[in-house]
Amino acid sequence: MPIYEYKCNACKKKFETLVMGSFKPQCPDCDSQDLARLMSTCGFVSKSTDAGGTPQVTTSAGASGCGSCTSTNCSSCGMG
Ligand SMILES: [Zn+2]
Repeated sequence: MPIYEYKCNACKKKFETLVMGSFKPQCPDCDSQDLARLMSTCGFVSKSTDAGGTPQVTTSAGASGCGSCTSTNCSSCGMG
């Protein structure tokens, strides 16, 4: 499931949303569809520091593209 991060050009709010198919996201604050897509966070892997405290980052897994993803073929990392 690709999760993308967007920034609203109208109110500058950043938010993440699931994008499925031809779904067109809109700002949860002002309902604008004038959005800029930011780097993918690769789903669920990042930002979670509950268990070990140290996030797992493998430098060998594709330095270009998605550095925070432990998988080499994450569907969110394809860059189109
Ligand atoms: Zn907005």
